[in-house]
Amino acid sequence: MERRLRMGMVGGGKDAFIGAVHRIAAFMDGKIELVCGAFSIDPDISKESGRELFVAQNRVYPDYKTMIEQEALLPEGERMDFLTIVTPNFLHFEPAKLAMENGFDVVVEKPMTVSLEEALALQEVVQRTGRTLCLTHTYSGYPMVKQAKAMVREGHFGKIRKIVVEYPQGWLSRLSEREGNAGAAWRADPKRSGKSLVMGDIGTHAAHLAEYVSGLRITELCADLTTFVEGRLLDDDGSVLLRFENGAKGVLMASQISAGEENAVRIRIYGEKGGVEWANEDPNNLIVKMLDQPRQLYRTGNAYAAPYTLSSFATHNTRIPAGHPEGLLESFANIYRNFALTVSAKRKGETPSPEALDFPTVDDGVRGMAFIDTVVKNNESNEKWTKFVL
Ligand code: NAD
Repeated sequence: MERRLRMGMVGGGKDAFIGAVHRIAAFMDGKIELVCGAFSIDPDISKESGRELFVAQNRVYPDYKTMIEQEALLPEGERMDFLTIVTPNFLHFEPAKLAMENGFDVVVEKPMTVSLEEALALQEVVQRTGRTLCLTHTYSGYPMVKQAKAMVREGHFGKIRKIVVEYPQGWLSRLSEREGNAGAAWRADPKRSGKSLVMGDIGTHAAHLAEYVSGLRITELCADLTTFVEGRLLDDDGSVLLRFENGAKGVLMASQISAGEENAVRIRIYGEKGGVEWANEDPNNLIVKMLDQPRQLYRTGNAYAAPYTLSSFATHNTRIPAGHPEGLLESFANIYRNFALTVSAKRKGETPSPEALDFPTVDDGVRGMAFIDTVVKNNESNEKWTKFVL
């Protein structure tokens, strides 16, 4: 029978940033409901958050272990179907593993874990249990990002030669981790964040976007990491030269000390015949630049005639008519909807559509952690190029 999927949450309480965004995204299409949670490290905040979210008080648990164990004992018709994990990076692996081993699917934030070893172990758990793991690389959910990917795949630009991806932010231009900013505090702590602050927090988004849109894998890289803010324990800026499997070359910039920048994610990809450009701060536009032609502007939600017809992946991920802005929340919701469609199809023994399967998985999570490892390894060595560790 068709029904909503039941979601549990670890993290995402009143004391958190991204958890609320997950709930907006999860609820947007009416396919998911929140039934339980261990919403905070602080049990009182967790309880209060549960009350405000109208979660039954007997299903607001003191910790994620108790939640997973107790939920697994509930009858099929009641227990949660999947667990969303929105805790700091070091608290992704354990709940994800425990959830899958107890029969639950998982949505987990990036970076998937704090180490490549944990990421590989999680990949093994997915393979062993057959569960679905969705990784929330937010920018891959936008319709115009999917359009760019489709155009590259269909050979619109010819063989890809150059990929330039940027993620500058300015919010860590000061030592915010010592000024009471809890989100900055765990991000700048190697034990809770991982080997690299800038690459874990935003570089993985950029690397994923480059591989997702181009369909090409990074094979080698040359990295330069810097800690600009005095007293900070991890890097806050990085520039990386990239080599891709087909011979394409690339540049990745991730920076959290680009003072004045917000979330200026941008990707440009150039092939033999032309190129494409997409920017997070103007997400309904896709700029197409072809050799010897005027510049073209593709816009979300239009029913263009052939040969400009938008791909089924772009239209599947569009909700409203052209001109009404869709943004980050809808992009996030696309990831949740595709995950929900996939999980529901699998439960019914059906094969999910290619559009439904189009969300980041555990394999992307492993690539992300391998990216961080390779960047840090190269930065610490004297060699010019380091082979991607996977
Ligand atoms: P945050 O510090 O704002 O919130 C963390 C939450 O986890 C808090 O509610 C905290 O109480 C809770 N928590 C900590 N330990 C817990 C435990 N043992 N049990 C239950 N809850 C616990 O952090 P945030 O900014 O929301 O980031 C969370 C994760 O989301 C990180 O991995 C981060 O990298 C990722 N993130 C991703 C995006 C994106 O664009 N996809 C954006 C922001 C954050």
